[in-house]
Amino acid sequence: MQPKVRVRFAPSPTGPLHIGGVRTAIYNYLYAKKFNGDFILRIEDTDQTRFVSGAEDYIIEAFKWLNITFDEGVGVGGIHAPYRQSERTMYRNFALELVEKGWAYYAFDTPQELDDLRKQNEALKRNFQYDSTTRQGLRNSLSLSKEAVEDLIAAGEPYVIRFCFPADTDVVFNDLVRGEVKFNTSLLDDKVLYKSDGLPTYHLANVVDDHLMEISHVIRGEEWLPSCPLHVMLYKAFGWSEDMPQFAHLPLLLKPEGSGKLSKRDGDRLGFPVFPLQWSDPKSGDVSSGYRESGYIPQAVVNMLALLGWNDGTEKEIYSMDELIEAFSIDRISKHGAKFDVAKAKWFNHQYFQKLADDQIAKDYLPILNSKGLNADLDYVTSVVSLVKERCDFLNDLWDNSYYFFKAPETYDEKVVAKRWKDDAGKQMAEILIHLRQMAETECGDDVLFAQNADTFLHNHITEQQLNMGQIMNCIRLALVGEGKGVNLADIMRLIGSGETIRRIEKAIEVLGR
Ligand code: GLU
Repeated sequence: MQPKVRVRFAPSPTGPLHIGGVRTAIYNYLYAKKFNGDFILRIEDTDQTRFVSGAEDYIIEAFKWLNITFDEGVGVGGIHAPYRQSERTMYRNFALELVEKGWAYYAFDTPQELDDLRKQNEALKRNFQYDSTTRQGLRNSLSLSKEAVEDLIAAGEPYVIRFCFPADTDVVFNDLVRGEVKFNTSLLDDKVLYKSDGLPTYHLANVVDDHLMEISHVIRGEEWLPSCPLHVMLYKAFGWSEDMPQFAHLPLLLKPEGSGKLSKRDGDRLGFPVFPLQWSDPKSGDVSSGYRESGYIPQAVVNMLALLGWNDGTEKEIYSMDELIEAFSIDRISKHGAKFDVAKAKWFNHQYFQKLADDQIAKDYLPILNSKGLNADLDYVTSVVSLVKERCDFLNDLWDNSYYFFKAPETYDEKVVAKRWKDDAGKQMAEILIHLRQMAETECGDDVLFAQNADTFLHNHITEQQLNMGQIMNCIRLALVGEGKGVNLADIMRLIGSGETIRRIEKAIEVLGR
């Protein structure tokens, strides 16, 4: 029987979460949900030098916003608690077990000694590696006598515990994305498992926890592939090979240009966020933009990220979370990096924005209007939203596309004035006004009827008088909107009403002349 699917997202709280990390979490989540498995949040904070305060809270808040939930983990609890590695105290015994079994050794070399060696080798254009070819010449429990080692430990000499890679051995494992992967140990150094500060390194803590937490699949970024042979060997050394998780290393998210990993700098350069939420760096105070603050809809972000490096083999692009869960499979994850596409990100948001109910958008739009000193009633704003939302990708695009429903133009676009308000445009408008005033009076405040009749009148009038349709209609648009853009004129007249329509045309004649 297959073991229960248990996957984890295991970020280190070293700063804001990159969207590449968010995608990793999404793939883990989809995989867990597809197989009714568990999704765990483990915080890997054993590297005290890289710890950034606020990063853990940021991570938790980001997934809340994205509606990605964890079954176990930091902030949730569970049978394997604690899920914050700095609170787990079992690692030392595991490191000692490996020393006992001959899979690891104490090393007393100081950082200064190792640095000197590295420099000496560099001067000779050689690469220094702590491995089977060099370890006998260094200060460790393989080269020193048992008594010397005991004395050093008793004297309180700082030491680390290193993994002892066998010489020139192929480590072969299967990766669910890449197939068979092979590394020769001659390329690998004897990585530190346990540090002199009394904390495990990522490698030891990660493998021990994946084992203890019964993780069935390790789905993580491709940057961890080079660490995987060590992890595979650690499972072997502990005698856990039988229950070793299956590995899937995900391709990178690439720059929009296509080569190199997508970085924060690309985001700054091209004006898009690379983090889910805005982040203020606690040290420098630098603020990086987030998808949430940029007006993205969380479902759109999840959908967009899920499709960066995975597809179900069809052309389908818009998926609900349930559809993603249903369709997701590791074997359809691309082996190649996925180029981030800003226009596509906006396109996804556009699609999700259109799906929102008009009155919901209107409710979110009200505070924006209030911030501009405008009060409008929800029904009116809802009608405006229904007319303009297809022109918007984001909530924040609404104002530019609908301001004229809330206030009369204060200026008129010069280019449009030059192109349209010429010859006897003012005179034409004045004549049209006479008819519109009459209509407004007869229709006594029925703006729907007014807009309908005004529209029919304008078309007839232009045809009968053999006027230029484009010019006349655009002069009216200029008067109502202040620019050459906007939705259908009849819709504008209907919503702003007969009185306001007439006032705006009067004002345009006054400002732009007869
Ligand atoms: N702590 C690692 C990270 O920050 C976890 C890598 C893994 O999933 O094994 O990405």
